[in-house]
Amino acid sequence: MKIVDLRATTVAVPLEAPLRHANGAHWGRFVRTIVEVETDDGLIGLGEMGGGGEAAETSIRALKPYLVGHDPLQLEQLYWKICNPTASLYNNRAQLHAAIEFACMDLAGKKLGIRACDMLGGALREEVRFASYLFYRYADPKTGLGGEETADQMVAAARKLKREHGFRSHKLKGGVFPPDHDLEVYLALAAEFPEDSFRLDPNAAWSVEESIRIGRAIETVRNDYFEDPCWGLEGMRRVRSFVKIPTATNTVVVNFEQLAACIRLNAIDVILLDTTFWGGLRQAWKATVVCEKFQWGISIHSSGELGIQLATMLHLGAAIPNLTFAADAHYHHLTDDILKGGKMKYVDGKIAVPTGNGLGVELDRDKLQLYAELFRSTGGYAYDRDPQRPQWFAVVPETRFAEPNECRRGQKKERSQNISGRK
Ligand code: MG
Repeated sequence: MKIVDLRATTVAVPLEAPLRHANGAHWGRFVRTIVEVETDDGLIGLGEMGGGGEAAETSIRALKPYLVGHDPLQLEQLYWKICNPTASLYNNRAQLHAAIEFACMDLAGKKLGIRACDMLGGALREEVRFASYLFYRYADPKTGLGGEETADQMVAAARKLKREHGFRSHKLKGGVFPPDHDLEVYLALAAEFPEDSFRLDPNAAWSVEESIRIGRAIETVRNDYFEDPCWGLEGMRRVRSFVKIPTATNTVVVNFEQLAACIRLNAIDVILLDTTFWGGLRQAWKATVVCEKFQWGISIHSSGELGIQLATMLHLGAAIPNLTFAADAHYHHLTDDILKGGKMKYVDGKIAVPTGNGLGVELDRDKLQLYAELFRSTGGYAYDRDPQRPQWFAVVPETRFAEPNECRRGQKKERSQNISGRK
């Protein structure tokens, strides 16, 4: 089996409402590049990469000379061809490699009649647990959804997600409003769902001292972990020495050099592995083996996936023994997917690992066309810009948080009623 061609198509798939975070916002859609790798025996493997447009598509197509004639089963060779770490000073291709590797694992599985998780040693579980992913959202006039700012509004949103999908772990994406506002919202969530577990992630927006103060204030909550309260291995190491909650990161440990430094510093307890950031499913899996030997916690990070990348997260989750936490996914914020059969379903907070060969998902070509057209008409967006605060940009640590004007105590009840009135 040899690769003969590859294609890259940018799509934009709508979200229920724009998602706010410490660096800006997802503007109401996810923009992703769908990669198709074709072989001489007519098979097509699927990959996915964050972002899109001419530059992303050109970067994928530029790999064609590396790939034509390559046997997709030779995954280690693929890594060295594209991701040699000494050449990456000039060509950091981790995310490009990830998209191609997903497609090659899909092809290898289709060829051999096995699943992607079988290439990682086989499945230990057939379902992967997920956490609700709670964002402050801008209101979306098209869907009538979003608008969460206050504790009451966030609790109502979490209640709805739990009812629809069965989540038993909840993640609050903080860092948009001042730390004390996140604290109020987080404690309200913990009080509402006493049987569930929680994680707070302000996207590294806080200073070390603010992180310690808020960390100590949430120590009595049933925490999964305290995720990236501040920036950097040294900052996280200092927070960890003062706060009695396992700390976690998806920001400052995204490769093996950083993992080694993190272990040496004893800086962080739980590593969130992202199949894209780490450069593919196999690289993320290798990191789980290192973490297993050091008895470090593992969780799975979400970088805003459609169904192809979600499938890679499910195959990773299926294969690793030390997945002790619910994984993250933005997936339930999407209104649709580019897969045949539509969006994958959560049942009791879990998604089933696909049973088909390779990644086990099929592209719906009508949907691909529909959302490629949506991208052409709406264009890309910058993750680190906020459409409703065009002059604002993030600094670290952030000391100029959004004014929670609508979060003043007198308005909470009214806003809360508006939300419940829409249900
Ligand atoms: Mg995070």
